[in-house]
This record gives sequence, C-alpha cells and structure tokens, in this order.
Amino acid sequence: MAALDVAIIGAGPAGITAGLALRRAGLNAKVFERADKVTPLGGAIILNAVGLTILRRLGVDIEDIYNGMRAEFRRWDGRVRARINIDEDLLKRANANGWQSGMMRKELYARMLDKVPDDLIVPQHEFERFEQDEDGVTIHFKNGHVERAKVLVGADGVRSRIRGQLYPDVAPPKPLGIAVWLGWCEAKGIEADCTVIQHDQNFQMGYAPLVFEGKQCFEWWLVEQYKGEAPPENVTQYVKDRIGHFAAPSRDILDQTDHDKQLFRWIVEYIKPLEQWTTGNVTLMGDAAHPTSPYAAYGAGMAIEDAYILAEYLKKADMDDPASIRAGLAKYEDLRRPYTNYTTKFARNLGRIYHSIPGPLRKVRDFMLDNVPGVGRNIETGVTEDAEKLLRQVLDDFD
Ligand SMILES: Cc1cc2nc3c(=O)[nH]c(=O)nc-3n(C[C@H](O)[C@H](O)[C@H](O)COP(=O)(O)OP(=O)(O)OC[C@H]3O[C@@H](n4cnc5c(N)ncnc54)[C@H](O)[C@@H]3O)c2cc1C
Repeated sequence: MAALDVAIIGAGPAGITAGLALRRAGLNAKVFERADKVTPLGGAIILNAVGLTILRRLGVDIEDIYNGMRAEFRRWDGRVRARINIDEDLLKRANANGWQSGMMRKELYARMLDKVPDDLIVPQHEFERFEQDEDGVTIHFKNGHVERAKVLVGADGVRSRIRGQLYPDVAPPKPLGIAVWLGWCEAKGIEADCTVIQHDQNFQMGYAPLVFEGKQCFEWWLVEQYKGEAPPENVTQYVKDRIGHFAAPSRDILDQTDHDKQLFRWIVEYIKPLEQWTTGNVTLMGDAAHPTSPYAAYGAGMAIEDAYILAEYLKKADMDDPASIRAGLAKYEDLRRPYTNYTTKFARNLGRIYHSIPGPLRKVRDFMLDNVPGVGRNIETGVTEDAEKLLRQVLDDFD
C-alpha cells in the first residue's frame, strides 16, 4: 500500500487547515472524519490577526466576513477598564483592521471547504487505533479500512482517541467550572464599532460585531461559574437575570436574539497541559493537544495556527527520511506546545479570577481593576503579547 505523507484524523478547524496547508506545501495528505459530512460546532467564533493571516495565505476568502476593530474591557455599567492596544504597524503589515474579529463558524467552514479539493476529506472513517514502526504508521478505522502514512496527526478534538493511545496516563477531560452561553443576532439599530468584554462581580458578557450572510450581526456570550447545574427551563429569563442590567447595547442584543435558535450552552472541558505531543511519527494538534477555556477566545485560532505551522515545518523536511520528518515534528512541538500551554493556563486562571474566587476577593479584584492603572490591561492581555510575537514570526519567517 502506498503511504500517504500525512494522515490527519478529524475535520474540525485544525484538521481542515492542516489538510489545506499540507496540500499547499505539496504533500500527499488526507483528512479522515468520522461524521458523514463536516459540520461546524457552535455559533460564532473569534479569530485574531494571526488566524486571519493564515487563512488568507491558504486562499480562504474572508474579506467580506472580516470585521476586525478596536476592543475594550468594560465594567458592567460601561466604564472602560482597558483597551487592547496592538502595534499598529504590525496590524498594517498583516492587512488587519483590528486584533480580533467575530465570524459565524458556519460561514467560515463554508469558505474553508470551498478551497478543499474533492479527495482531501474522507468522511465516515472513524479512527480506531494505530501501530507505528521506523518508517511510519499503520492506521485502523472502525469500518475496517487500513491506511499507511509517514505521519499521523490527531486533530480529533477534546476527547481525542489518538491522545488516549499515545498517552494513556493523561486523565480524560473534565469540566473546567465554567459554562458559556453563546448567542448571535442581527444588529438592527445597534452600532457595530467595537468588541466589548464586560464584567460585573459574577458574570462576563461580551459581544463582537460580525458579518453573516452579508448582514451586520453580533455574536455575544455570557460566561458564568458551573458546578454541574442542569440547564434552566426559561433560558430568556435566566440570561436576563444575569446580564439584563449590563450597559447598552447589551439589552438590545439580548432582545434581538432568538433564544431558541440563536443561543446555546457550552460546558467547557479541560485537561492538564500535556508534557509531550509527539511520539515517533504521531503528533497532536488543536483541542486534542490543548483544549482551552473561552477566556482565551482562541480555541479555533490556536487550532488553525498549529495546523499551518506543522505544514510549514513538514514542507522543509525530506519526507523520505524518517530522521528529517521527526526533526520537523520536533520543531513544530517546540514552537507550539509552550505557547499553547501558556495560553490555556492563562485563560484558565483568568476564568478562575472572574468566576471562582470568593465574594470578598471579587470586591478587591474589582477595586484594583477600577483604580490601579495598568491592572486591567495586565490581567486581560497576557495573551496578546505572545500572540503579537507569533504574528511577527508568521509574517517574517513563514510563507
Ligand atoms: C459546543 C462547543 C462550542 C464552541 N464554541 C466556540 C466558540 O464560539 N469560539 C471558539 O473560539 N471556540 C469554541 N469552541 C472551541 C472550539 O470549537 C475548538 O477549540 C476548536 O473547534 C478546536 O478545533 P479542532 O479541530 O482541534 O477540534 P474539533 O473542532 O473538536 O474537531 C475535531 C473533529 O474530529 C472528529 N473526530 C473525533 N474523533 C474522531 C475519530 N475517532 N475518528 C475520526 N474523526 C474524529 C470530530 O467529529 C470533529 O470533526 C467550542 C467548542 C464546543 C465543544
């Protein structure tokens, strides 16, 4: 059986991007997906300028759905606590209007799938197990199909079966203690000029403008502590009780959302940051390697980055030389694992600071956010500093 250069398991943002980037790099790659067809999870996502730069490079048409603009952290009553300041020259070099932008996942997937060659994604192939030897990997699927590849990539999400086989001692995912309500609505009569993240003592409500099917819309989210509570019966009342008092335009955004069709709840799961992603010729990426709290707003973005960077390193490897392949995989892991482990840890801690600390400490936290210059920016933007560096690297070192 002729071996593929790379077999990727899972057609989420990581797997699709990996397939596109590896094919662009001239490698013989295929993506195996267990579902009948590729279906997007959830409603909207946020991508930063790194993700957008990568998608553009892969030829994905995002121009008319891209709506990046300034971003602010505010108190629930509208008082600005911090602004995200990103190097303007860097943004210009990346051809970005702002650092982050909202996108409906459905639309993003459709644009990505537009670029996918017919034979790239193989549906109805659920990965079961692999065996590896000096020259590569033999992959077994539940439907009986067997595939041979020089490299196997686990892009199979938070409950990754490949991670389970590679690192059986890693504990399975468990709830992080945070629930997120993700909603979206059209922006009728609401000015879409800023991404806003607002907090009161217990809840976060954020919103970001986005363009969906040619219409100006908002995505929005409510983040709260989660201790295993069942979903409420009256969702509308539930979200209004929590964030109905937040400053305009929050109320309008809530009112314009169809709570049955445009709002859903996500119980966030996490695993302890991994100490290793690669063994031999098998590696991990995306949620399989680093599921993250929504406080990073970066799960899909990091998955896209992993995929692109892996392809950049494998492009430079001699795919007929096992040592060269392994050197490429090692460079990928060296760049990505510390970065994503830092980001997921930071996001997890931020979630704790906002939702898990006791009441009296929350008062101290809010006093500092409101009165001590720089605290807000330091708390909120611990991630953007490293991401700026990464954007520079993507612009300067990769193509
Ligand atoms: C309900 C929900 C809502 C979310 N909303 C947001 C959001 O709004 N914004 C945001 O930034 N992030 C969000 N996230 C996180 C974000 O979706 C992930 O970080 C991102 O999708 C990770 O991409 P991935 O490709 O690594 O994994 P996934 O998107 O999980 O894709 C994994 C793929 O692998 C396939 N697969 C799994 N096992 C196998 C197998 N054994 N064989 C073959 N195929 C397999 C799955 O079917 C799936 O298609 C959400 C996550 C969830 C669960």
